[in-house]
Amino acid sequence: DTGLNIRDVSFAYGDVSPALRDGEGGGKPVVSGITFGLPAGKVTALIGPSGSGKSTIADMLLGLLEPTQGKILADGVEIGAQNRRRWRDQVAYVPQDVFLLHDTIAANLRLAAPQAGDDDLWSALRAAHAADFVERLEHRLGTVVGDRGVRLSGGERQRIALARALLRKPSLLILDEATSALDWQNQSLIAKSIDGLRGRMTILTIAHRPSMIAFADWVVAIENGRIVEVGQYQRLKQKS
Ligand code: ADP
Ligand code: ADP
Repeated sequence: DTGLNIRDVSFAYGDVSPALRDGEGGGKPVVSGITFGLPAGKVTALIGPSGSGKSTIADMLLGLLEPTQGKILADGVEIGAQNRRRWRDQVAYVPQDVFLLHDTIAANLRLAAPQAGDDDLWSALRAAHAADFVERLEHRLGTVVGDRGVRLSGGERQRIALARALLRKPSLLILDEATSALDWQNQSLIAKSIDGLRGRMTILTIAHRPSMIAFADWVVAIENGRIVEVGQYQRLKQKS
């Protein structure tokens, strides 16, 4: 169980499809020869300014984009054409703007655990280490989310999405600015729950602000598609 290895990976949108070309610079790489690892069971943070290539890297790790150069290995096996589909089943992704069905909270969770009835939804949540995220919503699982139901807080929406992601029992969990829009109390509460997942799966947390990644074991900082710094959070903090 070695986690993920990103080896000399580059990506250019214009090389993939001319339709994705974004103005004149579309053909130039937005990720350039990056090499880093996501150690199994650890929390790695990827930080960098907007447009530095973070989401592009996430999409490659999720098996949604193919590197134009270099390779990505999961537990030593390259993610390629033959196993990309299977790999997608092993990853879970939580963005900043989560998608929730306009249905009950339980129905939203059951999207990721279709076989779980009302009674065994909690056992499924516990087995997936997801219960912590929705414990405070326990009495509201039948509440309808959305325009015709209650308007949940941003924190509640993220918790439901996180629990739903965990129900898939991913080996890699990617949080893409997943808590960036929340106030610091909600951020630190969710960070605490994520902390409890350490050792159970490989986690990549993506943020543009360093304050969001204090719980990471390891930090990779990028700018303009290149790695500018790799190290432990405390050490990076002392330098900045
Ligand atoms: P970040 O997540 O750090 O904000 P992105 O990976 O979204 O960065 O973007 C990196 C660069 O790639 C930016 O310059 C962005 O404009 C460009 N980019 C993103 N998506 C596309 C696309 N579909 N076509 C062309 N360029 C894109
Ligand atoms: P803003 O667009 O300024 O963030 P909104 O009024 O759209 O504020 O949303 C306020 C809060 O309600 C946010 O936390 C948002 O995530 C949440 N929210 C928005 N739409 C819905 C919805 N259909 N159901 C439940 N919660 C929602």
